[in-house]
Amino acid sequence: MNTQIKFAIIAIAVIIPLSIIVVYGTNSNQQFTTTDNSKLQVISSFYPLHEFSQNVGQEKVDVTLLVPVGVAPHDWGPTIKDVQRMQKSDLIIINGIGFENWIDNLEETNYHGVIVDTSNGILDKNLGQEQINSSGDPHIWLNPVYAQIQVQNIANAFSDSDPKNQQYYQLNAAKYIEELEFLDLKIRNELSDCNQDFVAFHDAFSYFADEYNLNQHTIILSNNPHGEATAKTLENVISTAKKLNIKVIFSEENVNTKTSEIIANEIDGKVLILSPIEVFTDGTYISKMTENLNNLREALC
Ligand SMILES: [Zn+2]
Repeated sequence: MNTQIKFAIIAIAVIIPLSIIVVYGTNSNQQFTTTDNSKLQVISSFYPLHEFSQNVGQEKVDVTLLVPVGVAPHDWGPTIKDVQRMQKSDLIIINGIGFENWIDNLEETNYHGVIVDTSNGILDKNLGQEQINSSGDPHIWLNPVYAQIQVQNIANAFSDSDPKNQQYYQLNAAKYIEELEFLDLKIRNELSDCNQDFVAFHDAFSYFADEYNLNQHTIILSNNPHGEATAKTLENVISTAKKLNIKVIFSEENVNTKTSEIIANEIDGKVLILSPIEVFTDGTYISKMTENLNNLREALC
């Protein structure tokens, strides 16, 4: 369905019941209360943000994942039911930088809660870096230094919405940020004396590569994994890999590995996984990043 039409329907479905509440209800808040009144009701848009929110909020918040487990967030859009769920939440945690292309439409449906853009402070920090402005690459969470800022933004938003638990949120965030700092140091140390060029599947690791002085080449040129690999791009990747003596071609958990295998065969190399951590499989953000590190070490060191 055309997105505009879809959202027109959603707007009608949501705004009409809301106006009825305004007219007939004395306390419209009662309509939005779920099970536990004392807890912040939080919806996070996709997997890593869900985990970050859980780490910060723990037992003081109810965190729900918006994009269902197993579904890739890039091309996802909310159903009417999802929008109704979002209407009941106090906060919606998003990545920002255009990753949630449905968010503008949600704002039009009279959402009464807070939309938390976790990219705040990351883009500002990089303003002037042409690459970020031109590509609009949304994959900030794959750089653990940026992930720390995302976690802090979540803690600040929880603190603003629920000031009596401010200390709790800030302490949880500080502890988790410490783990992310450790992860960052580990990646920095373990990749420092290695080769720099790697072939990722889609254009997801540019912030990661910038942070750790690596050069990302990609099979899919787009920063959406559903982009097409053309014969020309395959040819380019193969010749780059041969020229740079690359022996590992990366794939992802949720894509067909065939394209990566074709390239790997051509260069007499092998396929390993470099996860963009967009879809929950198992483990945690930190364990997935550590697996990525181990596979990168196998490719580069
Ligand atoms: Zn992606």
